[in-house]
Amino acid sequence: MPSSEKETLATLEGVSRVYRTQYVETHALTDINLEINSGEFLVLTGPSGSGKTTLLSILGLMEPPSGGRLVIAGQEISGLDRKMRAQVRGQHIGFVFQFFHLIPDLSIEDNVALPMHYAGRPANEIRQRVSELLERLELAHRSSHLPVQLSGGQKQRAAIARALANRPKLILADEPTGNLDTETGNQVMDLFHQLHEEGHCICLVTHDLSHVKDADRHLKLQDGRIVA
Ligand code: ADP
Ligand code: MG
Repeated sequence: MPSSEKETLATLEGVSRVYRTQYVETHALTDINLEINSGEFLVLTGPSGSGKTTLLSILGLMEPPSGGRLVIAGQEISGLDRKMRAQVRGQHIGFVFQFFHLIPDLSIEDNVALPMHYAGRPANEIRQRVSELLERLELAHRSSHLPVQLSGGQKQRAAIARALANRPKLILADEPTGNLDTETGNQVMDLFHQLHEEGHCICLVTHDLSHVKDADRHLKLQDGRIVA
């Protein structure tokens, strides 16, 4: 993508996240400053407990920061209510998880359709988009199956199809290959690279350092801070 077409998808300024329970206060993130641009392939690594999932959840508007400023696709997030945050998320962000998080009693096609239903898309558009995505991810023959009937790789491909449903610019993936064998994991990584080439911004959390080499930028987290 030419640099003139670059836009800022996410800005974090002094973002922190503190989890408080009755006895302990955990500083999961401290003073995170970060700008994420369209078309970027960002890889995030760090030891277990360093705040990777928390950072992705905040970027994905799944939980609010405890402090600091967050802007997603030009929208200041702190002023938005729950419903508006969900709208911004649905429009701009696709999420892929280590354990897929498909809804167990919905068929694969209904899982993939869900973000479009939430976005209020018309039924014929949903049908067409779902069949196009299932075709692309080689799941057309599994469309009416339940998640439990699919292999790990198929489940992750279904989750990726769901993440793509609303054509988000920003795709957040939290250890998406962490629960797959090496070959299946590599296929999933190939997919992320294809999506990147098509112009999506990918923000990938991984333990696998072999995923770092193709990234535009590599961020390391430690104790809730970006250290490199
Ligand atoms: P990572 O994904 O890098 O392993 P996390 O973002 O999951 O790290 O967690 C960062 C820190 O925040 C850890 O110390 C973890 O125990 C703590 N934490 C995460 N979620 C919660 C929560 N819901 N309640 C309390 N502490 C949490
Ligand atoms: Mg994690």
